Amino acid sequence: MASQCQAGRWDVELAVALDAVWAASRICRDVQAKISADVFEKEDRSPVTVADFASQAAICRLVGDAFPRDPIIGEEESGALRRQENGPFLERVLDELRAMGVEASGEQACDWIDRGCQKNFAPRFWTLDPIDGTKGFLRREQYAVSLALIIDGRIEVALLGCPNLGVEGGAASATLSHSDGRGQGEGSSGSSRETQRQRSPRPSPARLSSPKSGGPGEGEFGATGAIFYATRGGGAWVVPLDDPAAPPARIHCSHQANAAESRFCESVESSHTSTSLAARVAQSLGIARPPLRMDSQAKYAIVARGDAEIYMRLPAKYGYKEKIWDHAGGVLVVEEAGGVVSDVEGRPLEFNHGYQLEANRGIIAANRELHAKVIAALGEIYKTFAAPQGPLPAPGWKPS
Ligand code: AMP
Ligand code: MG
Repeated sequence: MASQCQAGRWDVELAVALDAVWAASRICRDVQAKISADVFEKEDRSPVTVADFASQAAICRLVGDAFPRDPIIGEEESGALRRQENGPFLERVLDELRAMGVEASGEQACDWIDRGCQKNFAPRFWTLDPIDGTKGFLRREQYAVSLALIIDGRIEVALLGCPNLGVEGGAASATLSHSDGRGQGEGSSGSSRETQRQRSPRPSPARLSSPKSGGPGEGEFGATGAIFYATRGGGAWVVPLDDPAAPPARIHCSHQANAAESRFCESVESSHTSTSLAARVAQSLGIARPPLRMDSQAKYAIVARGDAEIYMRLPAKYGYKEKIWDHAGGVLVVEEAGGVVSDVEGRPLEFNHGYQLEANRGIIAANRELHAKVIAALGEIYKTFAAPQGPLPAPGWKPS
């Protein structure tokens, strides 16, 4: 595959990142599987706290050991975990690491976590969201582990661990959508995921170690899980979480060019995206199907493998700046699957301003055929806004 995928350029980075995302995804799945009805009902956030820290520790340990000079811009830092009263949390983090075969002292685990708390732009850095979609994680729905390598502002390597997404795709995947159930049982007509597996630029996963038997991944969520990944120029791929040595399958965006036949996805959380504005865009494009609502960057994976054509993230709060770790992993996966990702005005995303997408607002990810149509429809709707306190002024919005 060397000629087709430029194999070799990011072999070492990809192998380490796959190891890391695999370990973190298994940890998260293990913790999520242990969320009892009691914890669920009490809306106890401790499982996500434990999984968040353990995931970041596992990833930063491997990435930091392999590339000690690379900063990692991640979401968490260990300050709270180091406090004496949070000792029980730290013990639970250490237990999760131990289940993955990683023995560490509390100090060591906190040091690994703090490798990931850089915030400034560097010519070469990693960005990490140890659990993206924490609300989905707690609801036992979708969430993702997201890791990307950015060089001179360009995403070069990107991975999304999605423990609750099936490898095979098709919008019928059991835990694909939010609990309104509307997303289940319908595939996208334009889906173009290759059924035949190919060799990817992924190097041998020989370094992957197994968790203790009876540990992570068994139980309620054990039958699913996938890691999506891409390298610039090397295509987008998926590999099962439970069998990382399996041959990866290449994924592609849908080629559906008829907007009316398309499907769009959006956040479950209405504070993260304007669902009413998205409904107006959908109406103007003639999209009849209900939105597929799901948490996390799993939405990018869904677009990348053709289960939906469009992902709209329309600013719901004036002045909110998207965080790079909420998007870098997903963006390259969609682009390498043949899709286009921009902000709501069609501008390319700029990953060279530190930890936020300072120059962008909102996100539109779509297949090549429909991206410009979505941007145009959105632009027309924004033009009709009467006042800045309306649903949401776009960047650059001016009163008409
Ligand atoms: P999602 O699961 O797609 O709704 O996105 C989850 C991410 O939304 C979290 O990781 C947060 O960083 C991010 N987030 C928090 N507040 C907002 C907001 N007001 N607008 C957009 N994203 C947000
Ligand atoms: Mg996030």
